[in-house]
Amino acid sequence: MRMRVGLCLLAGMWGAAAMGQQDTQMKQRDVEEMKKEAAPPAPLKAPATLEPAHSPNANAVYQALRQRTVNGPAFNVKDVTIRRDAGVFTLSNGTVYLYGEVNGQVTGAVFIGEGTLDVTPPSAMERKQLKNVMKTEVLAQKFSSAMFAFTDGTAEELKKAAGTTVAGSGPAVGLGKEMQELFRVDLKYDLEERLLEDVAREGSAKGSGEFFVAVLKNGTFSKRLIYTVDPHGAIGVAPEEVGLLTSGDGGYDVTLGFGSEAQRGRQSALSNRAFSVPQQTIDVTIEHGGKLTASAVTLVTAKDNGVQILPLNLFPTLRVSGVWGTGGEALDFIQEDKKDDADLAVLLKQPLAAGESIQLTTKYSGKDAVLDMGGGNFFLVARENWYPNMRGDFGNYAQYTMTFHTPKEIQVVATGDRVTDKEDGKQRLSVWQSMAPMPVAGFNLGNFKVDESERGKGTQVVSYANTALADNYNGLANSGLMVGGLSTTGMLKQATSEGEAAIQIYTDFFGSLPYDHVSLTQQTACNFGQSWPTLVYLPICYFWDDTIKHEIGLDNDPTYWKVVTAHEVAHQWWGQTVGFSSYRDQWMSEGFADFSASLFLMETRKDMKDYRDFWALLRKRLLEKNAQGMRPIDAGSVVMGARVDTSKTGGVYQDLIYGKGAFILHMLQMLYWNPKEGNAQFKLAMHDFVNTYRNKAATTEEFKAAMEKDMPASADLNKNHKLNWFFDAWVYGTEIPKYTVTSEFSKQGDDTIVHFQVTQSGVSDQFQMLVPVYIETEDKRGIFIGRATVFGSTTVEKTVNLGKLPFVPKRIVVNYNYDLLSD
Ligand SMILES: [Zn+2]
Repeated sequence: MRMRVGLCLLAGMWGAAAMGQQDTQMKQRDVEEMKKEAAPPAPLKAPATLEPAHSPNANAVYQALRQRTVNGPAFNVKDVTIRRDAGVFTLSNGTVYLYGEVNGQVTGAVFIGEGTLDVTPPSAMERKQLKNVMKTEVLAQKFSSAMFAFTDGTAEELKKAAGTTVAGSGPAVGLGKEMQELFRVDLKYDLEERLLEDVAREGSAKGSGEFFVAVLKNGTFSKRLIYTVDPHGAIGVAPEEVGLLTSGDGGYDVTLGFGSEAQRGRQSALSNRAFSVPQQTIDVTIEHGGKLTASAVTLVTAKDNGVQILPLNLFPTLRVSGVWGTGGEALDFIQEDKKDDADLAVLLKQPLAAGESIQLTTKYSGKDAVLDMGGGNFFLVARENWYPNMRGDFGNYAQYTMTFHTPKEIQVVATGDRVTDKEDGKQRLSVWQSMAPMPVAGFNLGNFKVDESERGKGTQVVSYANTALADNYNGLANSGLMVGGLSTTGMLKQATSEGEAAIQIYTDFFGSLPYDHVSLTQQTACNFGQSWPTLVYLPICYFWDDTIKHEIGLDNDPTYWKVVTAHEVAHQWWGQTVGFSSYRDQWMSEGFADFSASLFLMETRKDMKDYRDFWALLRKRLLEKNAQGMRPIDAGSVVMGARVDTSKTGGVYQDLIYGKGAFILHMLQMLYWNPKEGNAQFKLAMHDFVNTYRNKAATTEEFKAAMEKDMPASADLNKNHKLNWFFDAWVYGTEIPKYTVTSEFSKQGDDTIVHFQVTQSGVSDQFQMLVPVYIETEDKRGIFIGRATVFGSTTVEKTVNLGKLPFVPKRIVVNYNYDLLSD
């Protein structure tokens, strides 16, 4: 253990312990001004005439790939090594069976024999994940059979190593079939569509793609391993390019994920997208019963040269009847059975050059994407894929114009501005337009009662509750238990005022929204809320009073109902105004939203009880073992995102990503806080961050850089203007320190002298922390006196003359404001 003593005490700050005091007022961006800057382009127009549509999956090369089988040459191999990024396949002894050619290319092989896959993960974080799932930090997995699919030079490499020729395909055909089923039925990933992206590329040379996937099996080993290298993002970890999935109980664990050797050096993981979608114009009809019929005009701009196949995301039960290009020419498209690998992809006639655009018109319809719940309640199941969206994540910002046709009594509340709302024969017609580029578009439907806050200069709140109950709550309504009735409209005013307060508080802390209103809408689901740009879905149970919540057993988590609106409104900043680039960055969306909710509790309550209870609960959930015996805090770092949930760790995602994510921003807030200016420096940094990434996605490293730009000298622990020490410890790391504090007070004339020790334990030598130190007074106030610098598991000791104190000190404490996550 290394001994290191350091303490920096700030001078002259008695009595300013309450956060939020004396903050300088930030200059706010004007909403109208921002709207003008981001003025939406004119809606896209579908071509006047359309050629007869092609049928789905009609493309001949695609069909050939879909039907390809293991009927190529077969040969014995000995000690062949195939290296694909961090994965090294050794085929020690066995037989290789090649697939037949499609478009002159071999795109698959089966190996039966003795082989090994060795993978050394390129980061400590990934080694830890491998250990969580497979009990080893370096993979050396023996296999007895391997199925490969590829567009790279694998076939040529194997042929070069060919030994004696083998007749027939033996068991290889069955293994090939097994791989096919695995991708189609279990993973719902259209492998042949991915192969087609490279194989169909005009003039593409043999093996010129870079896609590679291997499925490994072993007779004595129940797991299957799926190792992928894909420059467009590997399965399960896109946009990262290398991934390893392992089969667990009833599903797959994402065991490894990292950028390829080339990608690791790149600025942003987003750069591997082949195209972007800057604009969408959608016309959609929703009938009683929930059937949705739509026509979407989608502007696609290529980022790479040679883009010819456009993988898209459309809900599987929304069946496409045709796709057309800019001039109305019918295009080939892929959409397999809704139960299988049904993702939509469009095949262009000509490849696009980088920067070139095409306008797609897609007609589709189907049930189950929207559910008619009865009583004028509708539930949108296909939240982000009711229209042909980009696949994978929320980093694509687009401008949307949406026209809705609904039954006359059904209102639409959608993302963006309502520009038209009128009766149109037997239907209601409403048109919505985004007032800024948005990462997703969506809507809620219902027969609503409305409440709205005053329209001032900032962002207005408009709340919507359904006038009648959905059928699934009829049992409850008729149970006779509900003294107060189950009407939800009584809560409208409270929703509005909570929304208003939240927007005011967050605007002060983080800067203005680019939206002039936010709609808070009731949804029929009871147990979750969701936030799309300008549109919040609040759970119906939020709209019921405490008596009813009690009667239906919803009061075991009272904190949830206190912050659900505040959390969802906070997503207007975190996730919408500032998006997250990939699953690695999602902790910022959820963690920052939870942190924001704590600000809401602090600023809207007479005392700090709810605020303190909130943080105490987050901490408890992080440190409690789950059914698998795993504490969320130990499962992985926040940048693992959803991957922290595996068959070995159990469900830890919510507690870790939300809870620790919130603590991270809270600890930064306290590092930036000082008694003179309160949160001024923190607000400055957060405003800067929002201003820089408004209507864009940000990465964790970009957030770090924004915080470093406005870092106070007191947080510059290593005197290098970097927050590496903090991010290494809390964002990328998984350690959690424990603190013990002892203190003695004595008098020297009128002055009070304190001698105290702060001991940090349970962490490695690399773990550095600036520990906020407080005096607890006799009357239980906490008064900030400075920060102790503690390196590793050591003790900091100090004697300080506190001068003449206007209060009676009791002891020195840390973590007075839950500003330190500790064991
Ligand atoms: Zn959330």
